[in-house]
Amino acid sequence: MHTKRQIQELLDSVGVRPNKRFGQHFLIDLNLMRLLVNSANINDNDIVLEVGCGTGSLTGELVEKAGFVIAVELDRTLAGLAKGSLANADNIEFINADVLKNKNTLSPTVISALESAREKYNGRVLLVANLPYNVASPTMLNLITGPVAADAMYVTVQKEVADRMTAVPGSGDYGTLSIFLSVAGDVKTIRVLRPTVFWPQPKVDSAMIGFVRKEEKYRRIEDMELFRETVNLFMGHRRKTLTACGRLARGRLAKINNWSEIFERGGIVPTSRPEQLSGEDYIAIANLCCSGLA
Ligand code: SAH
Repeated sequence: MHTKRQIQELLDSVGVRPNKRFGQHFLIDLNLMRLLVNSANINDNDIVLEVGCGTGSLTGELVEKAGFVIAVELDRTLAGLAKGSLANADNIEFINADVLKNKNTLSPTVISALESAREKYNGRVLLVANLPYNVASPTMLNLITGPVAADAMYVTVQKEVADRMTAVPGSGDYGTLSIFLSVAGDVKTIRVLRPTVFWPQPKVDSAMIGFVRKEEKYRRIEDMELFRETVNLFMGHRRKTLTACGRLARGRLAKINNWSEIFERGGIVPTSRPEQLSGEDYIAIANLCCSGLA
């Protein structure tokens, strides 16, 4: 783990300062870093993905505990520093790239690194990271829908994003992210983090979040892509009625011509609003669409 001073010295040694554009806010409260690592309960068969490894502060803890670590860092200078400080570790692969190919896809390099690690290690796939805030939601969504799914995620994110992740139907924070996390597993806020635990300090509060995938929940979704399309169709118009949303369907869902029957069979009131529906309701609608299209 690197103290604030060590991080500053490392950056000075290569003549750079924290880059705001890359969301560089290093976690300098080492007790909280320990809390993050301990919450993940990592064992020596687990594969850990760290997104935004910075100088390698958290990474050093991860290589001690995990079977294998995949550390992704966009900033070439920081990636170099992290590599230097972990030169002795032999269970790590560094990827100097953007973790995302685009909003809906993880970098193919990251996916293939995860896939080949899975051939060697039969533990869990974990995301443990002090995430760069601008890619937090898409990274987590992609690790829910696959192609490689994480068994658990322990991360720090902006408090506002954490609130959306844990929001319940009908609340203002409720959205696509809340739905996906709730149908895929259990999510909880471990700790709210003040700006002072980072250097440089962000303008907003953050939170440490734990997510554990529950296969028995997730398995009920018959067609993941159709589930995703269903949630996007309705939540794209969260204040319209369900009936009105049905008329706006595109793609495969445009072929559905019996929305009222689907709502009825799903036990869902057609005049309700998308933001009032639970993850369970969306599973019901998507599965009924799936059998309707079969
Ligand atoms: N984990 C480190 C640094 C966290 S700051 C620590 O706590 O000390 C977030 C890190 O994510 C920065 O190093 C930043 O350069 C990196 N980053 C930002 N956007 C990224 C992206 N799209 N893909 C991978 N890394 C990214």
